[in-house]
Amino acid sequence: AKELGRNTFAFFQEDMQSLSDARLQMEKSLYRALKENEFEVYYQPQHNDKGEVIGAEALLRWNEPDRGFIPPMEFIPIAEDIGLIHELGRFVLLQTTLQVAGWYKQGLWQDNWRISINVSPMQFAYSNLLQDITDALANSGLSASMVDIEITETALMSDLERALEIMEQIRELGVSLSVDDFGTGYSSLKYLKDLPIDRLKIDQSFVRDLITDKNDYAIVLAVIAMANALSLKVLAEGVETEEHFKQLELMGCYTYQGYYFGRPCNATDFAQNFLKAGH
Ligand code: C2E
Ligand code: CA
Ligand code: CA
Ligand code: CA
Repeated sequence: AKELGRNTFAFFQEDMQSLSDARLQMEKSLYRALKENEFEVYYQPQHNDKGEVIGAEALLRWNEPDRGFIPPMEFIPIAEDIGLIHELGRFVLLQTTLQVAGWYKQGLWQDNWRISINVSPMQFAYSNLLQDITDALANSGLSASMVDIEITETALMSDLERALEIMEQIRELGVSLSVDDFGTGYSSLKYLKDLPIDRLKIDQSFVRDLITDKNDYAIVLAVIAMANALSLKVLAEGVETEEHFKQLELMGCYTYQGYYFGRPCNATDFAQNFLKAGH
């Protein structure tokens, strides 16, 4: 038994070693990636119930030369850990606003559309987020009314006072605010009333089994009803099928995002597939 214990420990040590090697490698690559422009912003359309485009969400992609595309869920937590998220967040803000301003100048982006940009709770708490947004707007010339910032419930949790202050400042710029992944965090219904929020995004985990799971159905119905009652906009994420779409529409939802309407794609493909001059 003693022998086995030692072997197990040796294996464990080895595993931990290769894990931390991989992690260290990833950290190094992230710094390089920012310098070498390996990050790219993808765009996923958002739609109204007529199926018309009403905006898009900017989604970050890392095209690692050896490994190919690495999903944001793998590298964003590490970027947060090593503090690179602030610079990465600035990159997303600058790049995205510049791109959308370009589409607007070409007549491809409409006045009443919005581009949604994700902001990490870390950015929300510790970056000079207001300055970063102001800089991106000034640099691109994009109208603030075309920009929406997506935050998660986590961003509100640590320091509600400070969160409220930042949110009010962002709103004063003319930028709108959405709560992302709504329903997955520990949110109090109180903040929906008190915080300057424009929109709830119903998390895709509730939408996925909407048709078959009674509980998911009930949650989605309640969130939509609550949003409508509080005069908040509501958007359903992860709409993958026509059935999802039709059901959500019946439930009183009126804006949507998901594979049924379109997958995230690079700027060129997005313009080709979803933007047409003068429509
Ligand atoms: P999120 O903000 O909830 O973004 C939605 C995710 O759902 C995206 O994954 C999108 O590709 C995916 N998605 C869209 N429609 C569907 C659908 O119909 N079905 C399914 N199954 N999935 C769908 P993605 O691009 O891998 O991003 C994952 C997460 O990474 C995002 O979740 C967000 O939390 C984070 N992220 C992405 N870009 C950024 C960024 O620029 N900054 C920050 N801080 N986080 C980002
Ligand atoms: Ca989001
Ligand atoms: Ca989401
Ligand atoms: Ca999510």
